[in-house]
Amino acid sequence: MEQKKCIVLKFGGASVSSPEAFASIAEIILQRRSLYQQVVVVVSAMGDTTDDLIALAHKVNPNPPRRELDMLVSVGERISIALLAMALAAKNTEAISFTGSQSGILTTNDHANAKIILVKPQRLLPQLDNGKIVIVAGFQGMSQSGDITTLGRGGSDTTAVALAIALQAEKVEFYKDVNGIYDKDPKKFTDAKLINQLSYKQAYTIMEQGAQVLHARCVRLAEKNSLPLKVLPFNNFLDEKLGTTIQDTVKLKNTISYED
Ligand code: ASP
Ligand code: MG
Repeated sequence: MEQKKCIVLKFGGASVSSPEAFASIAEIILQRRSLYQQVVVVVSAMGDTTDDLIALAHKVNPNPPRRELDMLVSVGERISIALLAMALAAKNTEAISFTGSQSGILTTNDHANAKIILVKPQRLLPQLDNGKIVIVAGFQGMSQSGDITTLGRGGSDTTAVALAIALQAEKVEFYKDVNGIYDKDPKKFTDAKLINQLSYKQAYTIMEQGAQVLHARCVRLAEKNSLPLKVLPFNNFLDEKLGTTIQDTVKLKNTISYED
């Protein structure tokens, strides 16, 4: 059977910081839907929601049990997936949201810093085959004992990459409030230059120097599976001069592997 063209789109907290923002990102998703048969969207919690939930927990207990903290903070992404599915429904587009555990994201039991060990996207596949846009909550999974886990701050990027690997997607596009990756921090240096192409190694080096554009673990996971990544601005995504692609020219292997 012919493989269907699949893409994973990741939207960070800054791109969903207000209720109106969901309608804007729905437009980006619809544009991509016209190019790919299968579209999976991973979304983070709105704006400062995760920080607010952590602060809330600490008001109740200065040292919250880690299992319960994960139960609480994973709610942030759950709000976003439901609202995004509603925004797409308002545009007469069929979409369905899933939590990390419903999406089959299986992790270690390290609450607040769990690693993805396997993705079993069985519930997503029939929805994608039916042409629905599948929306997955970033940052979260389920441990082997069935508890909700989270992947560490900024972990939704890693969710997007792991799903793309499991679904054999062509690439992951990360929609951010920056034009791509720069040679130095563009918020601090006015002469910072946008870089259009990077190898995985070059991406690590830049990130080690302090550019917090992607979750470092997601770059490692993409490199292991030769999955191309693209960082692009959500407010100007059609401008081809913008954006940074991270990939290597040589494809290393054809087998799937998850986090170490
Ligand atoms: N919402 C989580 C955080 O703020 C995960 C993410 O944004 O990727 O860390
Ligand atoms: Mg966030």
